[in-house]
Amino acid sequence: MTTLPPLRDVIQRHGLSASKALGQNFLFDSQLLGRIARVPGDIAGANVFEVGPGPGGLTRALLGEGANVIAVERDRRCIPALAELGEAFPDKLRVIEGDALEIDAPSLFGSKPHIVANLPYNVGTALLVGWLSADWKPWWASLTLMFQKEVAERIVAAPGTDAYGRLAVLSQWRSHARIAMAVHRSAFTPPPKVMSAVVHITPADAPDGVRFKVLEALTAAAFGQRRKMLRQSLKPVPGAINAMERLSIDSSRRAETLSVDEFVSLARLLS
Ligand code: SAM
Repeated sequence: MTTLPPLRDVIQRHGLSASKALGQNFLFDSQLLGRIARVPGDIAGANVFEVGPGPGGLTRALLGEGANVIAVERDRRCIPALAELGEAFPDKLRVIEGDALEIDAPSLFGSKPHIVANLPYNVGTALLVGWLSADWKPWWASLTLMFQKEVAERIVAAPGTDAYGRLAVLSQWRSHARIAMAVHRSAFTPPPKVMSAVVHITPADAPDGVRFKVLEALTAAAFGQRRKMLRQSLKPVPGAINAMERLSIDSSRRAETLSVDEFVSLARLLS
């Protein structure tokens, strides 16, 4: 790692000024990057899928931990800088120029990768929902993703809190989600307007007999009118009122009071 040129020099040499259109906010602090790279645990010899490596700060840290990295980056300007990094870590880094929202990522890996990404928030959320809604068991070993702090809080939220909603239920019904670390806005260049946090998600067994689509429809209806009683908000979901009765769930409750397990039980009856 010590033989690598400073990241800021790489950026200057390759003319990688951060593009607002591509949602680029770069991280340079090698200690911070090392901490993020260690969130998935020991990745020495493991496969890592990095989305949006940019100039390669996090990529360096992942390679430094001994991972085999496949990285997909949309910004063509970054590819030569990443190729240089690949030369310093022979056979450990493969860079693909492309859009992570379109690439067939599972086909790139022989064994389950850890996914690690510091992405624009809209892209990160779209990818997360895609990864969580795909067939279970998933093709990845864990997710380590940077989000706007508020979105991170929604992913890990507990019932009864303002942050609890669809994203919490869909993230937690067959995964464990936790906030691994907070990241101050000043750590980024340029600094974004909001604070960030790294979320770590590991898959768990899916509960028997529950279809994702049903849980999705149920949570969309319930949290679409979160201030209303469930007997009102779940009216459009066929069979939901009856299912609540069968499970002795009081229909005067509101969506945010239902635990993830209660949503899962309802979805099971409707699946
Ligand atoms: N990982 C680097 C770091 O931590 O310094 C860069 C982070 S920057 C917030 C996000 C990166 O994701 C940019 O390099 C951007 O070009 C890339 N990116 C944005 N959308 C993408 C997409 N759909 N597919 C692949 N890369 C994307």
